[in-house]
Amino acid sequence: MSRLQDIVRCFACNVGLKNRGPDDPPWIKHAQSFPQCQYVRHVKSEEFTNLVQMMTDQSDEEVSHHVLGCEY
Ligand SMILES: [Zn+2]
Repeated sequence: MSRLQDIVRCFACNVGLKNRGPDDPPWIKHAQSFPQCQYVRHVKSEEFTNLVQMMTDQSDEEVSHHVLGCEY
């Protein structure tokens, strides 16, 4: 007996995404690590990928400001 159903595989990046429960969806982590991934965009839609990127930008606000030179 295997528990392969706990692993979601991204065929575009050829990496396995471990599903650790409903509070830790593997696709969110994958979208953070591979925002350009075509498969995550196909499976979860481009809107999902953009949303994850927004969340990532917020938690990384200081870095983003320095890198992008954002003015508020
Ligand atoms: Zn991928």
